[in-house]
Amino acid sequence: MFIISSNNMLKKAQNEHYAVPAFNIHNLETMQVIVETAAELQSPIILAGTPGTYSYAGTENIIAIACALAIKHKIPFALHLDHHESYDDITRKIDCGIRSVMIDGSHESFQDNITIVKQVVDYAHRFDVSVEAELGRLGGVEDNLVVDSKDALYTNSKQAAEFVEQTGIDSLAIAIGTAHGLYKSEPKLDFERLSQIRSTVDIPLVLHGASGVPDKDVRECIRRGICKVNVATELKIAFSDALKSYFIENPDANDPRYYMKPAKAAMKEIVKKIINTCGCAGKL
Ligand SMILES: [Zn+2]
Repeated sequence: MFIISSNNMLKKAQNEHYAVPAFNIHNLETMQVIVETAAELQSPIILAGTPGTYSYAGTENIIAIACALAIKHKIPFALHLDHHESYDDITRKIDCGIRSVMIDGSHESFQDNITIVKQVVDYAHRFDVSVEAELGRLGGVEDNLVVDSKDALYTNSKQAAEFVEQTGIDSLAIAIGTAHGLYKSEPKLDFERLSQIRSTVDIPLVLHGASGVPDKDVRECIRRGICKVNVATELKIAFSDALKSYFIENPDANDPRYYMKPAKAAMKEIVKKIINTCGCAGKL
């Protein structure tokens, strides 16, 4: 069993100034591509699934496939709960074998966010499970979570320090101007705010909504202390665009063993590109 928590890989990333990518998965093929590519590049990675993904593919199925892929490719990686909001759902999945979770209470008040996160930390740490939480809000859409970008609130560095202190979390997702989904115009990230948060918080910091953020800006975030970079939309677009093109060129195609190939190949290029941007190749 090579399914591990995110703790050691993120601490190493923090010490050595690179980031670990968290790639959102949706099915067997996306999991195969990410783990195979990580093994080739000897990169630490996190496979992340939203509640919608776990209910679509089945938690037990995802865990079984992840374990099989870790053994086949002989690399340890984390299988992560992305944007989970329910204590019961998270603890049930920990009981199934998940060792890395995000509890997203960012839509709650500061105090209620602390309360629910602390509850999850108390349960998770008994099993050596790493816990990420979010403070501040991102714009955009992820799964069934919708935040109007005008209402998105950036993370405050003083509150961040208090939040980390009171919850005992292992990593903190911050809002500095990124959004989930696609950007209508180039996002303007608040780098200064990131540096302030880095100076008040000593645990690994997480950047959500990296799809569509220019590589140079992602690198600048890593330079200023981001240790985990979440990517979902960019992978989905590469996969589905290649699939659509294949069906346009081969309208009679009906065999997934063939039509999935170009989709997987297109996604693989994005996975490689992101591992390169994160600077984590060879860091396993
Ligand atoms: Zn996210």
